[in-house]
Amino acid sequence: MAKVLILGGGFGGVVAAERLAGQLSDEHQITLVSRSRQFVFYPALVRLAFGKCDKEDVSFDLRRTMLSRSVNFVEAEVAHIDPFERKVDIADGQVEGKLPYDYLIIALGRRLATEKIPGFYEHAHHLLNVDKAIQFGKAVEKLNAGRVILGQCFGARLPVPVYESAFALARLFETKGKRDLVTLTVISPDTLEAELGDVAGAAALRKKLEAQKIELLTNFRIESLIKNSAITNTGRMVDFNLLMLVPPFLGSSAASYMGVTDGEGYIKVDWTMRVKGQERIYAVGDCVSFVGPKMGHMAVRQGEVAAANLAAQIEGHEPISQYIHEMRFVIDEGRGDGLYLHKELGQMIRRPSDKVPFGVGPNARSRSIGRLRIQN
Ligand SMILES: Cc1cc2nc3c(=O)[nH]c(=O)nc-3n(C[C@H](O)[C@H](O)[C@H](O)COP(=O)(O)OP(=O)(O)OC[C@H]3O[C@@H](n4cnc5c(N)ncnc54)[C@H](O)[C@@H]3O)c2cc1C
Repeated sequence: MAKVLILGGGFGGVVAAERLAGQLSDEHQITLVSRSRQFVFYPALVRLAFGKCDKEDVSFDLRRTMLSRSVNFVEAEVAHIDPFERKVDIADGQVEGKLPYDYLIIALGRRLATEKIPGFYEHAHHLLNVDKAIQFGKAVEKLNAGRVILGQCFGARLPVPVYESAFALARLFETKGKRDLVTLTVISPDTLEAELGDVAGAAALRKKLEAQKIELLTNFRIESLIKNSAITNTGRMVDFNLLMLVPPFLGSSAASYMGVTDGEGYIKVDWTMRVKGQERIYAVGDCVSFVGPKMGHMAVRQGEVAAANLAAQIEGHEPISQYIHEMRFVIDEGRGDGLYLHKELGQMIRRPSDKVPFGVGPNARSRSIGRLRIQN
């Protein structure tokens, strides 16, 4: 009997748990630990902020879903992972103390490093959780004129909601007949090409922004905030009446002392999703070290790959699945239109010693870029 522990109840952890439950026989024990019993569907938070759906539409009860799939659910905070003793320290929640494991899947997402931007807490909105998205929506409702800035900090890895919010604001103020009273400015910490990882995609997005009279400031790295002003690394200052800013991301602190993370705290894995140097530990989702944006579809695919390989390992087989790092996203413009981007971010090569191909290098090639009609 193997004890499998999965840490984190987001896209990566939930998919890994469901797949493992389907692939392992009942003699094995699967337990998912997460700090909240709610699964949140983050891609819907822009719609939530703009009143297009309700709080109840963006989350569901994880405990019930897991139990229906014979996965134990523990609502608790993971403090520390000890790969030598094969134990996880639980700091707070339903249980406290150490949870032992035979195999581990880490799916703890990323951390918001708001502390890197002085003034963030007091002067910026973000929409990276349900409550913050609702607060941002309320602030938008109150605004009648002035400048709205939307953007990412350097180190943030999530462009989609920035652009979706900008398009949603353009639509909203147009409907209210106040579009001429509001300046919409999107700031990017890099060039648009670097932010999206694609030249053709950047050109298409730029056109859409221009069409909606949304100003774009690139290489604009916000380093601090004071009331109604953002200050960059070069001392530039831009005033705003409302700011929605995606803060810098870092890896989960629970994995930071394992000696398996890169400079930003993300966990280094191979293409089977196994943590480098660790026989019995896999990692998936936003917490892993891959180039490019951090997205839910990547977490889902990584969860599937980790589950398949872990099930094979428990049965005494070699890895059977590998992850191909691809970026796919739709920036929903509303009006039934959007921008679809699909790009391969890693290239597969086979070294003679590899059982399965291992990947190298970012930006291997762009596969396709085009406009997509979004079905309402
Ligand atoms: C506003 C917004 C819009 C987005 N739009 C898109 C989109 O259009 N397309 C797309 O593909 N992706 C999108 N994403 C990104 C996507 O949501 C993430 O990539 C995805 O959620 C990552 O899944 P994950 O399982 O790795 O991490 P998460 O979903 O962050 O899950 C991590 C889990 O771990 C738990 N956890 C964390 N730390 C601890 C701890 N110490 N102890 C216990 N539990 C812990 C958390 O509570 C959570 O349940 C969007 C994200 C946001 C915020």
